[in-house]
Amino acid sequence: QTLLITGANSYVAAHIINVALKKGYHVRGTVRSESSTAGVRSKFPTYADQLSFGIVPDITKPELFEAAFSGTTKPITGVINVASPFVLKADDNRRDLLEPAVGGAVAILEATKRYGPNVRRVVNTSSFAAILDLGKGARPGYTYSEADWNPMTYDEAAVADGTTAYCASKGLAEKAMWEWLAEKKPNFSLVTINPPWVFGPHLGGIRDVKHLNESSHALFSIIGAKYVPPVDFAGFADVRVVAEAHVAAFEKEEVAGQRFLVGSHFDYQTVVDEVRKGIPELADKLPEGTPGKVPETYGLDGSKAEKALGVKYISLGQSMVDSYRQFLEADRSL
Ligand code: NDP
Repeated sequence: QTLLITGANSYVAAHIINVALKKGYHVRGTVRSESSTAGVRSKFPTYADQLSFGIVPDITKPELFEAAFSGTTKPITGVINVASPFVLKADDNRRDLLEPAVGGAVAILEATKRYGPNVRRVVNTSSFAAILDLGKGARPGYTYSEADWNPMTYDEAAVADGTTAYCASKGLAEKAMWEWLAEKKPNFSLVTINPPWVFGPHLGGIRDVKHLNESSHALFSIIGAKYVPPVDFAGFADVRVVAEAHVAAFEKEEVAGQRFLVGSHFDYQTVVDEVRKGIPELADKLPEGTPGKVPETYGLDGSKAEKALGVKYISLGQSMVDSYRQFLEADRSL
């Protein structure tokens, strides 16, 4: 079987590809340009025969996926849609976030219907951002679950700040997918994975700390900072767990039509406390804050993913130590 995985050059997709290849799947990765393929290939030197690529220059145009769906030696039976803009500061919210996120989400479904006759499941990388109601703030005492939805509308998001607009782009994209499915009733089912901040090691190491994806940048930027950052998103999942969840979401027939919050509590005070303990070399480069004082925030219920997908969470401490060790390896100036 082949899994078509979009955004193959991304931080998250690398781990999904890794899990899939190790399980024996063939993977058809899609990227925007040919130049992105070499970096992905280099991460999987022993799986060259199982990995191929399709170039999709614009993810909002279903017809551009045709070549990606064709020409595989084993039929494509699953699609994992990872590609979506993840920037917390856009020049133009509509152009840079909303249009590619929502357009891309609908286009992959349309493309699957047109060109993927053997596909039985599309798994979409949504986000806790599609669940969270940012306007309600830290919301102590409340526990978010799959029942919650980001309430932001397209027009509100178009004029919102970057973080709000990004969150809305994920919520609107996911909603558009469920609506498309209800209307078109295709032969395949949809499952969404909704992680909060995704942290943990980059597969194959970090090449350049100056070009990190948003979540890794959020962690890296604490090094040398004066203060412990305030709460932004009070949840996280380790990227290795997120990857396992995606592949399980493809394999488990019975989870069709469901969304999964994959994650648990996160706060920056715990990050600095844990890294100071686990990596003494970094101790004096991290703000101290008030050790042990965990801010009061909403909670996250990630238990459905444990039960239905068999997800085994990696602790925040372990995930942080693994993340910061890579920062140390990648940046010799630390
Ligand atoms: P990366 O920045 O590493 O990856 C983003 C991927 O999406 C890249 O492959 C990128 O391709 C592609 N992409 C972005 N914008 C476009 C566009 N306009 N057209 C085509 N492709 C595009 O980020 P992550 O790995 O962190 O994110 C991957 C997915 O996971 C996203 O859907 C994100 O929303 C989701 N997610 C991430 C979280 C996190 O904390 N990291 C948390 C929750 C969800 P290119 O390199 O060509 O730009």
